[in-house]
Amino acid sequence: MQSEFQDFRNCLTLSLLLASWLGPFDSYALSETYSRASKDNLLGSRVELKSKWVGANPVPKSLPILVLAGHADSQGLAGAGTAGEAVDLQGEKPMDKTISDELFWNLRIRDAVVELGKAKGLNITSYEPGIRNIVDGNDPRTNWSAGARHIRKGGYAFEIHFDSYGQYGYGSGIIPALSLDLNTLDESFAKSFGRYPLFFRGGLGGPRRGIRILEVGKLEGYLEESLRDKISRKKTIDAIARRIVNALIDGLQSKQNY
Ligand SMILES: [Zn+2]
Repeated sequence: MQSEFQDFRNCLTLSLLLASWLGPFDSYALSETYSRASKDNLLGSRVELKSKWVGANPVPKSLPILVLAGHADSQGLAGAGTAGEAVDLQGEKPMDKTISDELFWNLRIRDAVVELGKAKGLNITSYEPGIRNIVDGNDPRTNWSAGARHIRKGGYAFEIHFDSYGQYGYGSGIIPALSLDLNTLDESFAKSFGRYPLFFRGGLGGPRRGIRILEVGKLEGYLEESLRDKISRKKTIDAIARRIVNALIDGLQSKQNY
């Protein structure tokens, strides 16, 4: 995620405007919520930043869900995603030398989530930009553009990511959209994975377009080892996909409405 820093400057003004707009709503309607400081057996550390939002809007069970693989359109640029602890610190070879290790895993998780989601009866699809290096974030072929189109039609879009290792990352969790319409899917993701603040890094490119960012976990330690190990790889991908699909199912079934 460190690559999205370049967005910070551009959207600071918008974020401050939104912050002042959301302020009264935030404090009156939403209870103070803190992410639990915990270590998940599979995913490692969770985000521990203070956050205040609650996803309360109910959604229809047939809500069209679009899954994106983070950095699928931005290889070779500053936004390629994390190389992971194994490559950066332990001298391991990249999983695929043409793309970041983060994208390698993002793609596999995206596809596993859609396959399992369809089997469970969800209205779920993925988007594949097809080109790994699109310079303009507003090009109609980018993840962001495809996600924004999907959201304009009333759907829900989220992008799979792995966070940076060590001090460079925060841990697993959902980064919500910069929106007043956070819903029970957002809430379910926050409960299952962790809760990032609404204005994380001043509002990232995806969330400013309504796209949620799901940080599966930091690409380090046990999680990364389990993915890299050929014997445990499929089991690990399946376990992550199951977590995500179960969170979606719980969110779609929730009647929560504050
Ligand atoms: Zn990322």
